[in-house]
Amino acid sequence: MQLVFATNNPNKLKEVQALVPNHIKLLSLEDILCIEDVPETQTTIEGNAIQKAEYIKTNYGYDCFADDTGLEVEVLNGEPGVYSARYAGSQRNAEDNMNKLLSELKHKDNRNAQFKTVIALHLDGKLQTFTGICKGEITKEKQGEKGFGYDPIFKADGYEKTFAEISLDEKNKIGHRGKAVTQLVNFLNNLSTS
Ligand code: IMP
Repeated sequence: MQLVFATNNPNKLKEVQALVPNHIKLLSLEDILCIEDVPETQTTIEGNAIQKAEYIKTNYGYDCFADDTGLEVEVLNGEPGVYSARYAGSQRNAEDNMNKLLSELKHKDNRNAQFKTVIALHLDGKLQTFTGICKGEITKEKQGEKGFGYDPIFKADGYEKTFAEISLDEKNKIGHRGKAVTQLVNFLNNLSTS
């Protein structure tokens, strides 16, 4: 089965490719010659995921899934949330975003946060969503070199290490995207056996 994964982010493609069974061939946006920015102008994580999947289906005709992720910080009422990528400005810089978040939380004791991924799947004319959540906390400083985005300042519940200090395999097992992708994969597997 061929499915478009509506992303240009090689880190995400690598993470998801590792979780999808071999018989599902993922096509990237580049593979389908989609070079324009896919719109993500909604005000919720779920809304953005659905918007992206519908855009590809409507404009390119492919069955497709799209994800959207945000980091929701309890004491900031869920911010940066849907604005995680551009939290510190339109330059979408991970260092700037982390610095801004660490500074917002400087005097806060409550450092609870969660990553949330929503995947929207457009398949055979139907739309489905899958949600993965990983609860944890924001550290006081950056730790580790692996991963991307906010990984150096996020520790999952029960872990002493940040997402930037654990392996990709381990992150996929406990992480938000891994949980959402597992649901997607289970759904696709059930389809092919029913
Ligand atoms: P996206 O919707 O997957 O593009 O994610 C939006 C933003 O959330 C990214 O630009 C990152 O700043 C952040 N983000 C998403 N996934 C992760 C992750 O697994 N680790 C750390 N940050 C992430």
